[in-house]
Amino acid sequence: MELEMRNLTKHYGKKEALKGVSVTLTPGIYGLLGPNGAGKSTWMNILTGNLRQTSGEIFLDGENISHLGRSYRRRLGYCPQQQTFYPSFTARRFLYYLASLQDMSREQAGERIEWALSAVALSDVANKPIGSFSGGMKQRLLIAQSLLHDPDILIMDEPTAGLDPRQRIAIRNLIGEIALHKIVMISTHVVQDVEYIAKELILLSQGEILRQATPPELLRELEGQLWEAVVPEAQLNEVSAYGTVCGLFQKSEGICVRLLGEKPPIPCKPAEPNLEDVYLRYFGAGEGL
Ligand code: ADP
Repeated sequence: MELEMRNLTKHYGKKEALKGVSVTLTPGIYGLLGPNGAGKSTWMNILTGNLRQTSGEIFLDGENISHLGRSYRRRLGYCPQQQTFYPSFTARRFLYYLASLQDMSREQAGERIEWALSAVALSDVANKPIGSFSGGMKQRLLIAQSLLHDPDILIMDEPTAGLDPRQRIAIRNLIGEIALHKIVMISTHVVQDVEYIAKELILLSQGEILRQATPPELLRELEGQLWEAVVPEAQLNEVSAYGTVCGLFQKSEGICVRLLGEKPPIPCKPAEPNLEDVYLRYFGAGEGL
């Protein structure tokens, strides 16, 4: 399976939200990283057919998706960012409703719905109205609906938003398990969500792909550029001038600074790069706030 995008652009009036994105996806998980406004949701909405691109084409196994129409959408699962539900529906009824829209038989729907509810740990509350759910429960229900028909292509826009760390790990593991033979694209601000499961990371900024590479490749690029120094608080500004500060924490001897850049002219020791450092290298410490 191959999903190819050729030179996708999207203009909202004068705003160029996507500036010619070309990429070919094959089965595996792709982590889409970028600050707010980078164009991630726009891209995902185009992939799912909710938005029409201004120019460019998308091909699934060589066939233009605009010709495939419904047969493309049937193979697609989408977990959107917006939570729009009928608050009086129960979780189970909501999933039955969506299954019926997807032409699933009642028997098939029943089986998949129980699986999906259990996969996102909502079986116990399946008969409660969605209006009584917390943000995290609604988010897990959105994830469940995207998996209902076992899609070949799964597009997930910040699926872990609003989840606590334990739930995030559970969802990350679930996505890792079900991704076999699927093309999965996940946008996230939480680099750890995709750190261990992504085949490749796509770094998007201002509508353009800055870099597409495997996590180990990205980490290798930072080798020899990460440092840790313990300094008194008064020296913090001085130290920050020698690179990007990737982390700070208080120690009894002073403040431990994690610094990305040329070796600072103070006693420091090399540190192991992680993907958060990669994010900061490409997007800077201040962006995305
Ligand atoms: P992200 O998902 O990475 O935060 P978006 O795709 O939401 O980025 O937005 C990309 C850019 O397009 C932003 O500058 C945003 O303000 C703009 N944008 C998104 N949707 C619209 C819209 N409906 N009308 C006008 N501008 C939009």
